[in-house]
Order: sequence, then structure tokens, then C-alpha cells
Amino acid sequence: MVLLKDLVVVGQGAPNQLRDNRISVCVCACKLDSKELIRIYPVPPGWFRKWDIFNVEVEKNPQDNRENTWKIKNSKEDWKRLYKWIYKKKEKYPKNKREELVKSIGFNVLSELIENKKSFGIIKPIIKDFELEQKNKTTTKQLTLGDVTDLDEPFTIINQKDYKFKPYITYECDGNCKCKNKVHRQSISERGCYEFMRKYPGREMELSKALYLFDKEYNIYFLIGNIYKAPQTYIIIDIFRFKKQGLIKNDNI
Ligand SMILES: [Zn+2]
Repeated sequence: MVLLKDLVVVGQGAPNQLRDNRISVCVCACKLDSKELIRIYPVPPGWFRKWDIFNVEVEKNPQDNRENTWKIKNSKEDWKRLYKWIYKKKEKYPKNKREELVKSIGFNVLSELIENKKSFGIIKPIIKDFELEQKNKTTTKQLTLGDVTDLDEPFTIINQKDYKFKPYITYECDGNCKCKNKVHRQSISERGCYEFMRKYPGREMELSKALYLFDKEYNIYFLIGNIYKAPQTYIIIDIFRFKKQGLIKNDNI
């Protein structure tokens, strides 16, 4: 057993159903002292919000060999009692320090992550395109959570694969990417994107605007991570969007 201390939630995927019918999200957290990125999976939806600060007792998942990947101690037995193993702080990570934190983790290009078998990386993208791929005729709401841990949590949880659309972004890495094909097309798993599609059916294309993808007033960074079934394949777990600070005057130019 390992106690991981001072973690900050930097990304969270939309819910997926596990084979045993549990509904889970994948949480990516940054360890504040080492700036390492860590995957905690599975976690029931509703336990974490982005920028939460927490400690957690974890153990290795023998079935998942991806780098820095942990499961919460006894998560299966204690699925509804994770407060035994999660110690959440009251305050979230301060808003005005978030971009700085992301920058301090450092940026990568996709080829480096693949080459070094990294679980995660942060990419400075040159965004080319945003698309929605239709996966189903309609969005099927079939999963309902009876007991929720947080009142903000929507009562209906929709499985990622049951949504009508799946969003994709096409981009190039801003840096010396050595991938044969410099143009990458990756799906987005960010929880917020799926919540947007759940709340605004018919307006899914506005997601690109809600994410400020093509807005010059925002700095956009992608948190990408590899997937269990194909560790060389990466998806966009979360999109950081920070409004640019005003230019500093009198900078001696
Ligand atoms: Zn690249």
C-alpha cells in the first residue's frame, strides 16, 4: 500500500462502465512535489472535481501495467466507502496558479511520449480541426445512480459509448515531434465535454466554442494519456484553457 500525498486533479474522463457493471471515471492527478502525473482508476463519478487537492491510499493494479497507474486501496470492496482512503482538502488549487502549475509539469510532443512509454503528457497544440463523429442514433440515458456522494452530481450518468457523438480534435504538436504523421487526430474524453453534450442536445457543435479551441485570447493545452488496450494510442483526457494575461507594459521594447 502506498500513500500518495498532495495530489491535484488535473483531468477527469467521462464515465465508462466496467465489465462488472460499476460505473467509473479515470482521474489524472499531478503530484505537487515531483510534478509527476498519476492515473487513478477506477473511481466512481462524483468523488473528484478538477483542481481538488487530496491524499489517497493506493495499490498497484495487477491488470494495468501503464506507468504511474494506481487503483484506490480496496476499491472494489469499498466502492461506496472510498472516504476511507481519500483525504480531500477543503480548498481547491488556487485559480491564479493553475496555468503556472501546468507549465511547471512541462510540455511534450507526442513522439516523446510514445518513445518513453509515458502514461501522460501535456501538449501545446496547433489546432487544425474539431469534429463530432456520430456514434449512435441518439444519446441513450440508461444508467441512473441511486446514491450520489455529491449533490452537484447529475442524477443520470451516461456511459461514454452511449452518446450520440464523440468529439475529435486534429492538431500538430508545437515542438519537434518525430511522429511520421505530424498531424494527430485524437478523441476527447473530458468529462465536461460530455456534460455539455448531455445538457445541450442539438448544440453539440458549439462545444468547440465552449472550449475556446480557436479563440486567440486563450492559451490551450492538452492533457493526453494512453489507453489501456493500446498503450501507444493516446487520447485527449482534458483540455486546459487559460485566458491570456494582459501584455506587460514598459517591457523595454
Ligand atoms: Zn506531434
